[in-house]
Amino acid sequence: MADFSTHVFSAAALGSLGATLCTKLLALPPVDGVALTLASIAGGILPDIDLKVSLPSRILFAFLGSIVALAWLFAHVDTLTVLELWFAAIGVFLLVRFPIRWLFHAITVHRGALHSIAAACMATTVTAAGASHLLDRDPAMSWMLAAFIACGYVLHLILDELYSVDISGMSMKRSFGSALKLVDRHRPTGTISVIVVAVIAFALAPDIAPVIQLWRGAAPGWQDSIIPEWLFATRY
Ligand SMILES: [Zn+2]
Repeated sequence: MADFSTHVFSAAALGSLGATLCTKLLALPPVDGVALTLASIAGGILPDIDLKVSLPSRILFAFLGSIVALAWLFAHVDTLTVLELWFAAIGVFLLVRFPIRWLFHAITVHRGALHSIAAACMATTVTAAGASHLLDRDPAMSWMLAAFIACGYVLHLILDELYSVDISGMSMKRSFGSALKLVDRHRPTGTISVIVVAVIAFALAPDIAPVIQLWRGAAPGWQDSIIPEWLFATRY
């Protein structure tokens, strides 16, 4: 499998490219661009949330806890006082870092049901529902955050699968095929749980139409926003 820093770097690199594109084309506030990049990084480490190795797992949950706590803090910055925000954000961090980590350790198997495309769909619908109901984001931004989580998640699965091939000898390691799968057929309980949670979260998620409307109204002349003019400048 690809290591932690490879996952974080790749998700940050691809996520920031996508976030910059969205910020330009949809005239989003820069802070939303940062949020989309962070969503992509979170998606890039989520599939390994069931890791059983102690140190990387602690780092992973500390990282995820920080992202969730910051997202919660900035979502409520207008309604709460500084001290309320600070204490509650620390509470959110500790919740992710300890009881939620313990729960994942207790009920999951590494590279099991959470290391699949079905789990990426679950993460997507849970993010859309969570961003809308817990972070108070509008439907369009909730689905945009969900899409970035999905991209980071799938990128993680692809990287793990690529790293399972020994490039030097082109021989396949034993882990080949375990990283990128549609569902985990060996663990039906886990797979059914993932699908049920995905469907429930989809029912709770906001309407998807506003994000389609947002893209329909994307800035005209989008090519000029993406490719620098000097790249095609002709010299005489
Ligand atoms: Zn992985």
